[in-house]
Amino acid sequence: MLRIDKKTFKHDYIEKFREMHGKDLSEGTDNNRYEALGSLIRDYVVEKWIRTNKCYNRTGEKQVYYFSMEFLLGRLLGNTLLNLGIRDTCKEGLNELGIDLETLEDLEQDQGLGNGGLGRLAACFLDSMASLNIPGHGCGIRYKYGFFEQKIINGSQVEAPDNWLRDGNVWEIKKPDKAQIVKFGGEVRVESLNGELKFTHMNYDPVLAVPYDIPVAGYENNVVNTLRLWSAEPVNNEFDFSSFNRGDYLKAIEYKNSVEAISQVLYPDDSLYEGKRLRLKQQYFFVSAGLQSIIKHHKKQGIDIRNLDEKMAIHINDTHPVLAIPELMRILMDEEGIGWDDAWRITINTISYTNHTILAEALEKWPIDMFKKLLPRIYMIVEEINRRFCEDLWNRYIGQWDKISKMAIISDGYVKMAHLAVVGSHSVNGVAKLHTEILKKQEMANFYYMYPHKFNNKTNGITHRRWLIKSNPELTNLLKETIGRSWIKHPTDMENFERFAEDKAVQQKLYEIKRNNKIHLANIIAEQQGITINPDSIFDVQVKRIHAYKRQTLNCLRIMELYNRLTENPDLNIVPRTFIFAGKAAPGYYLAKKTIELITAVGDKINNDKRIKDKLKVVFLENYRVSLAESIIPAAELSEQISTTTKEASGTSNMKFMMNGAITIATLDGANIEIRDEVGDDNIVIFGLTEREVLDYYQKGGYSAWNTCQGDERIKRVTNDLINGCYSYDREKFKTIYEHLLTYNDEFFVLKDFDSYLKAQDRVDSLYRDFSKWQSMSIINIAHSGIFSSDRTIQEYATGIWGSGYLYKNL
Ligand SMILES: *Cc1c(COP(=O)(O)O)cnc(C)c1O
Repeated sequence: MLRIDKKTFKHDYIEKFREMHGKDLSEGTDNNRYEALGSLIRDYVVEKWIRTNKCYNRTGEKQVYYFSMEFLLGRLLGNTLLNLGIRDTCKEGLNELGIDLETLEDLEQDQGLGNGGLGRLAACFLDSMASLNIPGHGCGIRYKYGFFEQKIINGSQVEAPDNWLRDGNVWEIKKPDKAQIVKFGGEVRVESLNGELKFTHMNYDPVLAVPYDIPVAGYENNVVNTLRLWSAEPVNNEFDFSSFNRGDYLKAIEYKNSVEAISQVLYPDDSLYEGKRLRLKQQYFFVSAGLQSIIKHHKKQGIDIRNLDEKMAIHINDTHPVLAIPELMRILMDEEGIGWDDAWRITINTISYTNHTILAEALEKWPIDMFKKLLPRIYMIVEEINRRFCEDLWNRYIGQWDKISKMAIISDGYVKMAHLAVVGSHSVNGVAKLHTEILKKQEMANFYYMYPHKFNNKTNGITHRRWLIKSNPELTNLLKETIGRSWIKHPTDMENFERFAEDKAVQQKLYEIKRNNKIHLANIIAEQQGITINPDSIFDVQVKRIHAYKRQTLNCLRIMELYNRLTENPDLNIVPRTFIFAGKAAPGYYLAKKTIELITAVGDKINNDKRIKDKLKVVFLENYRVSLAESIIPAAELSEQISTTTKEASGTSNMKFMMNGAITIATLDGANIEIRDEVGDDNIVIFGLTEREVLDYYQKGGYSAWNTCQGDERIKRVTNDLINGCYSYDREKFKTIYEHLLTYNDEFFVLKDFDSYLKAQDRVDSLYRDFSKWQSMSIINIAHSGIFSSDRTIQEYATGIWGSGYLYKNL
């Protein structure tokens, strides 16, 4: 904890403000005030940061590096204050200066360097590593433009650049002296020197990778770890730049632009893969810069390079950073002069890999030509890894050419990144039990058979510090009043809250907290959309990336069906509901963008239909991001986790909702299954096809969406409403959605699960009418959410993967 009293804080703050802005506090804008506060808090953190680093150097502990193309941090001020243990002191101090802390916190731009769950997971993991005293650091890219800003204009998504650095970033420290050179293109000269091959990379295009460090403060434990993000800059023309024709001004500009393009923008694709050359460049860029700086650091500490694997663990978040494998080989062999076998042992022992998806369209593979041209030396190493691996396969599977070519790292003209990740690492983990089982028995069955010891499960988690303590302070207080504070450091102690499941006073208190959070959200909605919503309606929420497999369409069709029933019978006895959606569609994903248009069109019609007496409201909140999630989730009562079974690897928003007392309506997919196991069937609402049924349909066929539609009047009607002008004068507008469901046989089983989903929603309606039942369900969900803290997940990674996990030895 930082020991700072209110008086010192106020003094420091006033001084910082003057020094930074050259004027007195009274003359500043709120933005000035935010900047001064952020900058002061960063100064406070820096002291601990220096001490932490000195401590790591002194003890020589193994360091963990989490490599990820995405870190979706959101805002840093509030959580840093919380973790330093000075949020209350600062709040009071600022109050005495006539400043409201929350107003300043709201001015911070989200750091949105990620698409969704994968990037947010990386952010939660950084928080947990620091809070658990694990020397764990992030490595990624400092994108100049983060995930795009979404505007909804006339019901459609419009993308605008996310210029998050416009007003500067008080949290980062640029470290030009730690810059690294990353080499692209050119060719490799091979020479034989005293019987050994020597590889020289020549005529390459150099790029300067400049690190920006962001402090990651642990919770009340004095630890400050580092998130290092790399920015691409041109190499100084004066030296080390022989291939360049000096004095050619336009060429120089061109070079500058092409270099800076590398860290210019985050690709806005989630669970979708595009073979863009610039993306491959981004991947090698940060992986190479990160590895070079890590190895230099360890060498400076005087460790023997042959023991590197005892001093560092490198985790790769999905296959995006998988070039860490050949790049580490390159550094060890070409720069440190180590032979292949030792380099391979160190590499395997160092690298571990998380698989995030089984969606075929998300698996990365790069055309050989592109790869080879851009990264000639790395390609040679991958080729050699593949050659040795295939030799192994030949010995095992004599004559089974089909199997061998299916498993090869290089085949069909492509480099397959997931195969490289499995072969070149000592651990492969899935992100929820079901996901890991599917990996083992379906997607990666061949690899599992060969390397069973590598495969393991690490069910995802979320940091309860951001997603409960920070975002839901009233619920946090209720927990403190009822069960004390031990759960803050030991989140599974939240189980003690279950004792209050039937306690009427606690139920009442919980209801009031939820209602306050609902009112807070209702105000945001009124401000953003001018729509008035009823705080006593059920807040039914689906917020996440828009994607066919997540099935926002199922939710929307069900709303359309309910609306049909209500227009026929306005006195239909239902609890009023507010349907809240938010989420971004990838700019090139046509169907997803159409889904947004459908939701907003359905909202327009329903929200303005006087006949249904305000029983239904449909809201689409624009620009979903971490800070908006922090306002929505504490206000949610029903959590929609309705992906096609087997498609959502884990999900993490399901955990955030549960921790904030929402009841989950879900398919038995991803971590929903583990939530069900925790709370029991009575405290969750499950529907839909099982894993077995879905896999059977995919393997054996036998599903006809058309027949399902014809056999159900409700489905016939709502699908027809997509094309009969009901929601748009333009009858073509939602035709793609209609065709996806009916012409192309509904690959995500929306219609198949429709009836089951409606019945589940009716159960929700009747459960909600029983006040005491609903509140007790909510209490039980909160009480069992502790296991989904990312502290538990990180503990498992640390002991099972980064510490004493399986170690590869040379024979
Ligand atoms: C948690 C989170 C996600 C992941 O949501 P899922 O429902 O698990 O896909 C995506 N975006 C943001 C901003 C989040 O906070």
